[in-house]
Amino acid sequence: MEERDVIIIGSGMAGMTCAIYLKRGGLNPLVIEEGAPGGQLNKINVIENYPGFVHTDGPTLGAEVYDQVENLDIEYLYDKVTKVDLSKEKKVLYTAGGKELKCKYLVIATGRLSKKLFNDDDRYAGKGISYCALCDGNLYKGLDVAVAGGGASAMEEALYLADICKSVTMIIRGEALMGDQSLIDDINNKKNIKCVYKSNITEYNIENGKLTSVDLDTGDKLEVSGLFISIGSVPSADIFNVDKEKGFIIVDNECMTNIENVYACGDVIKKNVYQLTTAAGEGTTVAYSIIKKNKK
Ligand SMILES: Cc1cc2nc3c(=O)[nH]c(=O)nc-3n(C[C@H](O)[C@H](O)[C@H](O)COP(=O)(O)OP(=O)(O)OC[C@H]3O[C@@H](n4cnc5c(N)ncnc54)[C@H](O)[C@@H]3O)c2cc1C
Repeated sequence: MEERDVIIIGSGMAGMTCAIYLKRGGLNPLVIEEGAPGGQLNKINVIENYPGFVHTDGPTLGAEVYDQVENLDIEYLYDKVTKVDLSKEKKVLYTAGGKELKCKYLVIATGRLSKKLFNDDDRYAGKGISYCALCDGNLYKGLDVAVAGGGASAMEEALYLADICKSVTMIIRGEALMGDQSLIDDINNKKNIKCVYKSNITEYNIENGKLTSVDLDTGDKLEVSGLFISIGSVPSADIFNVDKEKGFIIVDNECMTNIENVYACGDVIKKNVYQLTTAAGEGTTVAYSIIKKNKK
């Protein structure tokens, strides 16, 4: 079994920042990532609130941070952690690729995942159901699409799609859009975005492997080629047996969980603000705490 001082699970803003600080602090972290470096950054169309960048997008910022990671020769393993044993002094991790790894310090930076509309949504991937306009929007150029959801992320998705697609219908469960007034104004000012309120999707209609329409509980049928689901997210914390509240990991002010030397940072923890700046800040806090402890 391979053994490391520090293993970081997740390579979003929190995990990458933590890795940069650890490496510069003299440690050799291993980062395990199941997808592409950047995590949710890969879904962000416009970023105007990350210091140092007047206007950028998630993939660009993610690539800049990953460049720093590469320059520092930080080691990566592209694999999914499926099980962890936190009961002993050395923590044990098992991956989908069949690896077993041991570490003294474990950093959970696994972020959040989009909520599904129906349990079997995965069956429709590539058939017209998507969770990321930035990733898949181009497939629906000039076509009619819908966005399920009425929060800030859903509005961002709709605005992005409106510049590519013929029309965007936002299907909103509640009576109003929820989020910054400036975003709501942008939605209301876009000629090809329509909002339908107090509506829930009850059925996807697929013909020849492609989405053709969705049924609503109002009795209406909406003809669309693509549906982008943006109804919130859940923390990716199921496999970690640590204290949690509503699924989010509880940490102290050094970002340590209730288990000694098991830390968590970013969107997976219980906190007030879920942003890139806070994810980077917590990644830094974790690294500083580990560096300090390791010197004792
Ligand atoms: C559409 C959208 C727009 C946003 N706009 C902004 C904005 O303008 N400004 C802002 O500050 N914030 C914004 N945010 C929020 C911001 O993106 C997040 O707060 C931040 O990216 C969280 O980073 P993270 O590192 O905690 O998690 P994530 O980015 O979720 O990264 C977690 C990583 O862990 C990996 N992972 C998970 N489980 C495992 C496992 N078992 N094994 C291996 N790897 C695993 C995932 O693949 C992922 O890469 C936005 C979010 C979205 C979705």
